[in-house]
Amino acid sequence: DYARKPIIIVGTGLAGYQLAKELRKHDASTPLIMITADDGNSYSKPQLSTAFQKRRSPEQLVSYSAREMAETLQANILTFSKVSAIDTDAHTVTIDSGRQQSHLTYNKLVLALGSEPIHAPVAGNAAGCAFHINDLQDFQRFYTAASGAKSALVIGGGLIGCEYANDLVQSGFEVHVVEPQSQVLGNLLPPDASALVQTTLSQAGVSFHLGTTVKSLDHRGSGIQVVLENGTHIQVDRVISAIGVRPRVELAQQCGIPCNRGILTDRLLATEVEDVYALGDCAEVDGHNLCYVAPLLASAQALARTLAGTPTPVFYDSMPVNVKTTLCPVITSPPPRGTEGDWHYTRADSQGVAARFTSPNGELLGFALAGEACQQVTEFSEQAPPIMQ
Ligand code: FAD
Repeated sequence: DYARKPIIIVGTGLAGYQLAKELRKHDASTPLIMITADDGNSYSKPQLSTAFQKRRSPEQLVSYSAREMAETLQANILTFSKVSAIDTDAHTVTIDSGRQQSHLTYNKLVLALGSEPIHAPVAGNAAGCAFHINDLQDFQRFYTAASGAKSALVIGGGLIGCEYANDLVQSGFEVHVVEPQSQVLGNLLPPDASALVQTTLSQAGVSFHLGTTVKSLDHRGSGIQVVLENGTHIQVDRVISAIGVRPRVELAQQCGIPCNRGILTDRLLATEVEDVYALGDCAEVDGHNLCYVAPLLASAQALARTLAGTPTPVFYDSMPVNVKTTLCPVITSPPPRGTEGDWHYTRADSQGVAARFTSPNGELLGFALAGEACQQVTEFSEQAPPIMQ
């Protein structure tokens, strides 16, 4: 009889914790177990890429410990515990913690597994020394290693790469960014907006190497010798790799839960397997895998109601993304990838760029604002179409 069993949430990132908080608003008594591979500290992941300029240490980024969260949520939180298998017929999860293995039975299971960094294919004896900063523990490692370092190379000129470049240059690092596309933030912005971000960061001291990739990383002295495909040699103290993330789908895949890019769910956040749900970076909700905070907040609200007995579909309204390149802020609501249409600038000068993306028949599909033009966000957001129809 699963009805008496707990709700189990796997993952204590923003998605897992936000869901638990929302659930407790509707249901104070159902037993709740949360399982996480990490220490279960509650923190806001977006703050990782502004921590240096704000002089915040990894410890200061922790808002609550797992123990405090357990108390607030009236939940049992199992830390340093990895779910290695799910038996969806028996409604059990297998948990590996150190050398011990245990099993728990669930009534409902929620996967909030997040995403993991993609590793750049790079040669050389220091290839394994690039830092991938995707959670607080990664940040702790980089923070320790960055002490005394003066220069850094960031692989990837997308959202995360530009944010780290912006952060490090403002705390005195010499920063290089390598990006294969001919513009930074190329998946999010039209060329003039990208150019404004690039110019502003360059003026602050960031060196951009566009249209090329990293060929090799090799130890040299106390630092790393970087060779780019275009022949450029750069010597830096540390390397950060930020070429993108991919949803964690392996666990679900191994257990017969259908996945595409993310774990497939409908608008109720239900997977195709009974009593198993997913949200956050790991989920592909009605065709949308969006690795941002706003979609997971909307998902957590809806799923909490569903789990508390009122089936509630999630709706993704327009959700503009703020890129925290604080030297040149960006707000963008890009059209879905591969959409036919064109960018039209309403402003493009040395202080700000504003543009709308429209389809061939004039339908507004997205917008982009950079620099001072970010002040127009209300006007542009009001007109932006919802992500879900
Ligand atoms: P995570 O926070 O990754 O949590 C995953 C959890 O699952 C962890 O607790 C992990 O231990 C656990 N886990 C995974 N596998 C297992 C397993 N097998 N067993 C047990 N536990 C497991 N978004 C924005 O909207 N705005 C921003 O400004 C922004 N800035 C960002 C800056 C940076 C540097 C980064 C990296 C991301 C940023 N994002 C931003 C994205 C946003 O932070 C993420 O979308 C969000 O934090 C994802 O939360 P999550 O709970 O889905 O995943």
